Amino acid sequence: MKQLRGDSDGATHAYAVPNEVSASRDAWRWLLIGGLLLTLLYVVVPYGPLASAVYIAATLLAAVAVALAVKRRSQLFRPTAWLLIASALGLAASGHAIWFWLDLRGLEPFPSIADAFYLAIYPLFMAALWMLGQRSGRDDGALSDALIVGIAAAVPGWALLIAPYLEAPDLTLLQLFVSTAYPVADLILLPLILRLVFLHRARITAHLFLLYGMLAYLAADMLYAHGNSAGWYEPGGITDGLWLVAYALIVTAIWHPSASVEPCPPISSAELSSQRLIVLGAASMMAPAVILLTAGVDVEVVRVAAICSTLLFLLVMHRMAGLMRKTNRQAHELEKLSRTDPLTGAANRRHLGDELEREMSRAQRSGSPLTLAFMDLDYFKRFNDTYGHAAGDILLNELVGAWRPILRPADLLARIGGEEFVVLLPDTNIDEARQVVERMRQRTPREQTCSAGIAEFRPGDTAEAFLARADQAMYAAKHGGRDRVAFAAAPSQPHRE
Ligand code: GH3
Ligand code: MG
Ligand code: MG
Repeated sequence: MKQLRGDSDGATHAYAVPNEVSASRDAWRWLLIGGLLLTLLYVVVPYGPLASAVYIAATLLAAVAVALAVKRRSQLFRPTAWLLIASALGLAASGHAIWFWLDLRGLEPFPSIADAFYLAIYPLFMAALWMLGQRSGRDDGALSDALIVGIAAAVPGWALLIAPYLEAPDLTLLQLFVSTAYPVADLILLPLILRLVFLHRARITAHLFLLYGMLAYLAADMLYAHGNSAGWYEPGGITDGLWLVAYALIVTAIWHPSASVEPCPPISSAELSSQRLIVLGAASMMAPAVILLTAGVDVEVVRVAAICSTLLFLLVMHRMAGLMRKTNRQAHELEKLSRTDPLTGAANRRHLGDELEREMSRAQRSGSPLTLAFMDLDYFKRFNDTYGHAAGDILLNELVGAWRPILRPADLLARIGGEEFVVLLPDTNIDEARQVVERMRQRTPREQTCSAGIAEFRPGDTAEAFLARADQAMYAAKHGGRDRVAFAAAPSQPHRE
């Protein structure tokens, strides 16, 4: 079954969703609706035992739904990652149960055992997101770019979410550790999420749901961290609801049919799109902007921003170095492709033209001999008609494979037409050339024969004249009955056929 989704570049990206009997194709819709309804119920029911029960049940159901999908969906992409996510949701449900139990009793120890459960969620999420980003074929700088944005986000993250705790005078060391552990974990999670975005995973609907789910989780964390330090957070409100939305989106992701699609990079993706360049540019300016805004106000924030700036510079340099390496490699490959015949790997007409000019001026200068042979398979059309075009292609390939070892590195074998080849032999006189060409003819595979015409360079020759003489000699060989070598008439060389 094919599913089409427009991608961010406006192009259309198609992926095949494997047919699965076990996974009900519409389950994800109902799970999403169910999750959102439970969220709504939690938000509208006044905070108390009922709301808490809804919350714990919703989280537990999410954990079970993810685990069930891992068990039932046989073709899931990266099932281990999803199992980690299911475990994380299980930990969340346990954490909630403990937290609500304490809270409803008016006990608010901080940190509590619930925090241990909550904090254990993060390494599981991190490992899962890392696994989901593996085996993508190409990385295309996704990790570097994600780190660039992640480190840039760490600067305001520090200023807004971590610094307030550091300044709070009444926190014990453990309280400080636990309070800051959440935003720190979020700041580690962010680049792991962004890495998936930069790997173009949002083109697959299941991954898009997961990304939204993770972003909702981060947003809820940030709201909570800010609300907690600023004193506006109340349980039972939108912030808690946002965590439930995150769980619903995660469940939707795994139950979506496309969760079994093996992600592959888009066929034609620019290494660095202009959108990504804007994102990276804006991210890189974040740290200096924070320095500008807070200079003289908060030395600690300035210090963090300066450290992050340095890291950002290093990452941007690393990214640029990678791009340069890739561009150089591609330029090299392109240059090679532009002078190679794609079927046989021999040189093409363009390469022959360049080499011919070079060798001719060298021969002109030094007076060293230069010969050129035109070689054409005999009755190749008949071969094609008998064995098929594909067999003809194979023969051409084998021909080049058989001829190459006979030639020296300085010689050039070029395919200039269907079954027509030119061999350029520098520092080779006509008698030596004859030996080479005869050896090549003997090695023609599959008992096929070929005819050849050899011409020697004459001072003052143009490339056209030189080629035309060899071509004429080849035709003479054809007319003479094929399977032979003929020589272009030369002043010093009697015409032989
Ligand atoms: P002659 O001995 O006079 O050279 O006869 P011929 O059949 O070899 O020459 P002709 O020019 O009549 O036919 C050349 C054939 O080469 C016709 C075409 O089908 C075949 N050909 C051209 N390019 C390719 C190719 O890339 N692959 C294959 N398999 N065949 C090709
Ligand atoms: Mg031919
Ligand atoms: Mg021909």
